[in-house]
Amino acid sequence: MHPRDLSSNTAYEAGRGTEEVARELGLDPDSLVKLASNENPLGPSPAAVEAIRAHADRVHTYPKASHADLIAELAALWELSPNQVWLANGGDGALDYLARATIDPGDRVLVPEPGFAYYGMSARFHHGEVTTYPVSKAEDFEQRAEKILADYDGERIVYLTSPHNPTGSEIALSEVEELADRTEEGTLIVVDEAYGEFSDRPSAVSLVEARDDVAVLRTFSKVYGLAGLRLGYALVPESWAEAYTRVNTPFAASEIACRAGLAALDDTEHVERSIEVARDARERIYERLDAPTWESAGNFVLAEVGDASAVANRLQERGVIVRDCTSFGLPECIRISCGTEAETRRAITECNEVLRGAT
Ligand SMILES: *Cc1c(COP(=O)(O)O)cnc(C)c1O
Repeated sequence: MHPRDLSSNTAYEAGRGTEEVARELGLDPDSLVKLASNENPLGPSPAAVEAIRAHADRVHTYPKASHADLIAELAALWELSPNQVWLANGGDGALDYLARATIDPGDRVLVPEPGFAYYGMSARFHHGEVTTYPVSKAEDFEQRAEKILADYDGERIVYLTSPHNPTGSEIALSEVEELADRTEEGTLIVVDEAYGEFSDRPSAVSLVEARDDVAVLRTFSKVYGLAGLRLGYALVPESWAEAYTRVNTPFAASEIACRAGLAALDDTEHVERSIEVARDARERIYERLDAPTWESAGNFVLAEVGDASAVANRLQERGVIVRDCTSFGLPECIRISCGTEAETRRAITECNEVLRGAT
């Protein structure tokens, strides 16, 4: 007895954790600066932490009320109806629901390269096939409808990421609209806005309201600092709304996740501070890192450093963990997440020393 043939599925490689690295190098985890996974350096909203504590003694019941309350609050926030909010176990879980609701065996999806690995993984889990379109370094990772259409051939889902991970580039709303207009009736455009709060551009949610072929993905993992809780959602067209009840895992988000999410939504001060810290860190990296960078709309910056694996390893030995982008197909780039001012300063200093060849 064996699992099915999973040879075309690839394992997700997450950014490395501090404990893992500290153990390997024999260092104190507290001395490490981890800027590898685009986590919030301020931590979670204090209001969310309080909500987690306050509801710890309620986890023996299914999260019926909290699930419904969070969906209602998100619906109000985005001015959609509650059944257009597909709550999930992280943004990744929402990607699974969209794949479940869309893909028949053998259907193809179109994903950005470089790009977020889970789009293709999720499609394959659901017996779909994956084709790619380039987000090209030679063009500074510019995202335009025309370019994506050059690789489009009737795929069931086209995934867009704006701000784009790992490059930080964006796609204009007018380009998303053009893409939706020019793709076939049976194609869903998924706009992944995991980093949407860090951008000044308007969300593609206005298109979800107006049409039946655009969905938007959002998460509590980034600006809200709740990556460890696993809470995210998709915003889907009205005509899709009912499908959720047919594809979701019952109680897709936990009681604790829902309570923390509700508290975090109300903590606008934490969100604003998080956005400010990310903006300051981006500017600092552009200005002070001795390597070419690309302007980013997310809470991270992509930098060209030569041999990214070697640089990332040397940095790690110095206690700074960044993301080597070799696995993204960018073997000359690292991605540095925005840290606190102190963390970002230290990352820049160490990186500049490594680039200078200091030992
Ligand atoms: C972080 C991220 C997500 C969602 O992550 P979850 O933790 O599952 O919510 C989705 N897309 C991109 C591009 C991301 O970087």
